[in-house]
Amino acid sequence: MTLPYPKHRTLSPNEEKLIQKAYEYTVSAHQGQMRKSGEPYANHCLETAKTIAEWKLDTEVIVAALLHDTVEDTSKTLEEVKKEFGEEIAFLVDGVTKLGHFKYREQNKEWALEKNRSENFRKLILALSEDIRVVFIKLADRLHNMKTLSFLPSEKQKRIALETYDVYASLAYRLGMTKLAGEMEDLSLPYLHPEDYKWLLEHVPEQFEEREEYLKKVKEKLEKHLRENNISAVSVSFRAKRYSSIYKKLKKYEMNLDQIYDLVAMRVIVQTTEDCYKTLGLIHELWKPLPGKIKDYIALPKPNNYRSIHTTVFCEEDKITEFQIRTNKMNEEAEHGIAAHWAYELKKESKSYANRKAVFADKKEIAWIKQLKNWQEKEGQSEEEFFDALKIDFFKDRIFAVTPKGDVIDLPHGATPIDFAYHIHSGVGNQAVGAKVNGKIAPLSRELKSGDIVEIMIQKGKKPSEDWLKFTKTTIARDHIKSELRKGSLLHRFNLKKKN
Ligand code: MN
Repeated sequence: MTLPYPKHRTLSPNEEKLIQKAYEYTVSAHQGQMRKSGEPYANHCLETAKTIAEWKLDTEVIVAALLHDTVEDTSKTLEEVKKEFGEEIAFLVDGVTKLGHFKYREQNKEWALEKNRSENFRKLILALSEDIRVVFIKLADRLHNMKTLSFLPSEKQKRIALETYDVYASLAYRLGMTKLAGEMEDLSLPYLHPEDYKWLLEHVPEQFEEREEYLKKVKEKLEKHLRENNISAVSVSFRAKRYSSIYKKLKKYEMNLDQIYDLVAMRVIVQTTEDCYKTLGLIHELWKPLPGKIKDYIALPKPNNYRSIHTTVFCEEDKITEFQIRTNKMNEEAEHGIAAHWAYELKKESKSYANRKAVFADKKEIAWIKQLKNWQEKEGQSEEEFFDALKIDFFKDRIFAVTPKGDVIDLPHGATPIDFAYHIHSGVGNQAVGAKVNGKIAPLSRELKSGDIVEIMIQKGKKPSEDWLKFTKTTIARDHIKSELRKGSLLHRFNLKKKN
């Protein structure tokens, strides 16, 4: 049995001892407990910690992952964990214990998130903002629970699969942990859509086999072309799209597999950013690109920090094929997202525990976590309002609009220039009089699309209009508009009184 060690550096003898001790502690605490699969319970803790190590998180997170169920499921108390392993690890274990489960209830034979119980979302957000490592452990824990879901009774399976799909996979995606998000969605699929899943198993592998020979040819041709032009690629590979993402597409095309030309994507990993662009040019030299399908997420990263260049070309035999080009570092970040970032930060910083938290909380890419926390602390809103805001602003599809200076503004689907304006600054929102989208005057109610360049025109002293509430999508914008309107009406009443 190998213990989980951080993969990115060598450990000190003390850290090694600590991990060994945590493993033995968890084995003895869970002594006699079995998972539904018949395995000893401690295996689950070990698997969870291994995932944490894979994400290059550090010793204290690994130790907390090993111990994550001891307080909840054994006779050990938090005090005992604190005494044995110290305050920081006890804090992480406590955080995971407190996260709890989301409430689901059955509606029309379907499980649905219970609307009035947003308590757990609040906890999740609090954990995100206080110490994101708690959420990493929870995600690793859920991943292993999903891998062993087949041993649970079928009613539980569906509920847990739905919770994983709705909450944890969305969250992982939002944190830029796309590999994990995809894995979770794939693991949920057989429980959420058993019939469709069976259909996929019957039809998709055949398509892959058919394409394999073809893709090998494409790979060889590209490798040769790169070599001749002095680009040393780290790797050229092709991978099948995940079943869950194929499934999402299939539903759009009435389960017609012929309509989906990107079942497989070619991935080219090169040494430098410069090489990424050179490679794009070399691919286009070999095969003509489809117009509108070139996406430069290196110059304009997605807000979850995904960086890569995508292009879709009329490839060999005129077959339409997608290519993704990125560096090794980008690839790592695309798979592990915020977890990868956190690891880099830790390497550079060797300050105390409190300082490290501060470094992370200030990072731009988690500004939205702070935003969420502010909402949840806002007084006077009903659970329902909070939940709706969360679903729209946090979990729904996002679009990425751009300022004329190239800053990416992350907005929910259906957002308008008013939402955009308020996300830049409340002053910009309040005084907005018009917008230009991609250089052309557009109504403030225009639904924005990803990639739109949006310029907001303002007029000093201008006040928001009540009409705006009809076409704003984000809570931030609505809150500012309402509060400005309230101020306006108070002023109005005050003026009237003065006249009397
Ligand atoms: Mn667990």
